[in-house]
Amino acid sequence: MSKPRPSAPRSSVRREVKRSINQYGVFPVTVSRVEKLTDSFVRVSLTGRSLLHAAAPISDGTGQVYDAYIKLLIPPAGASGPTMIELDTSWRSRWLAAPESERGYMRTYTVSNSRLVPSVGLDETPLLGMLPAAEADLEPLERELPEGQQPEIDVDFVLHTDSEGKSGPGSAWAEQTRVGQQISLLAPLRGSTLWASYNPGEARSLLLVGDETAAPAILSILRSLPTEATGAVFLEVPGAEDALDRLPEVRRAAQRVPGVRLNVLDRSDQQARGQQLAASLRQVCGVETLEEIAPREEAAPGEIVWHLAENPVDTYVLLAGESSVVKTLRRICVNEAGLPKESISFMGYWKAGQAEG
Ligand SMILES: Cc1cc2nc3c(=O)[nH]c(=O)nc-3n(C[C@H](O)[C@H](O)[C@H](O)COP(=O)(O)OP(=O)(O)OC[C@H]3O[C@@H](n4cnc5c(N)ncnc54)[C@H](O)[C@@H]3O)c2cc1C
Repeated sequence: MSKPRPSAPRSSVRREVKRSINQYGVFPVTVSRVEKLTDSFVRVSLTGRSLLHAAAPISDGTGQVYDAYIKLLIPPAGASGPTMIELDTSWRSRWLAAPESERGYMRTYTVSNSRLVPSVGLDETPLLGMLPAAEADLEPLERELPEGQQPEIDVDFVLHTDSEGKSGPGSAWAEQTRVGQQISLLAPLRGSTLWASYNPGEARSLLLVGDETAAPAILSILRSLPTEATGAVFLEVPGAEDALDRLPEVRRAAQRVPGVRLNVLDRSDQQARGQQLAASLRQVCGVETLEEIAPREEAAPGEIVWHLAENPVDTYVLLAGESSVVKTLRRICVNEAGLPKESISFMGYWKAGQAEG
């Protein structure tokens, strides 16, 4: 007979659990670790018993996250503590109408890993807000976990500034955050599927191409792939110091799938964003490079550059990063290399000169 579990540690803050009408919820979490990976990347680990109620593999901590992503609710300047949103049918319009100085910012980030960690002394975050179930319904879920464990996720932030040294709220938050700080995230509820794009179908090989914002997604795909996978990865990062392939965990991820070649390219010699990705893509597709600089496609302001492969055949192509770069890469694949459109997932993760909103 299994040993009865002591009940979860209680917070001194009132527990307020409501039924949600959505397939996603707001999860208050605590920063448990901050690690500067390279000049441009900082890894922030977030933990909380609230994550027990998020979709697997966040809640079960198995780490097979592929390119799953969440929304972080970055508090406005001067505010601290987790942001709460009442997720009723009009929350989105209410959120957009509120001034940023009050509601803060919602930013999209990849879950680069997930695990279970000892809960002792780590998390005093109350279970607040729009969690999925009544309190009585939560207890059986909590009993399913190993004793004294709770989920933890990693988020790898790109630290970026413009020519005037200004960064966005997401990047600025990551740069200043410390262990113990609280924040909220929006993610699918347990029982539903995490938001993600990777969909190789029956394709026999992979071509994964992205800029630094896609590095967490591509690297966690590498970690999640079956060991017999084949293909190539091209990652473009800001500087030579960001050569992620020098990090032990990235080397390990690449070594476990020896049939997938990892190529990390850097822009340290002032090359335009995406220029090396375009050249590498042409090279790997056997397309002649006629111009020194790839003619760029421009994503229009507000244009949604996002389409998932429908029925990948032969090689599955995943393109992710800055929207105009992604449009350019897709044109090379389709117009120059003649790859079938239905094999290509392309995701504009962000747009130069435009804040996420
Ligand atoms: C599915 C998905 C997964 C993502 N995963 C990650 C991830 O794991 N890590 C990560 O760092 N980003 C990731 N991104 C991209 C991230 O959401 C954007 O970069 C976001 O704009 C950052 O918010 P911010 O507040 O720092 O800047 P914003 O306030 O959104 O933008 C302010 C200014 O900075 C510019 N800007 C934004 N991002 C960058 C950048 N990386 N480099 C240079 N200039 C930039 C904007 O064009 C704008 O001019 C992901 C996006 C999506 C859609």
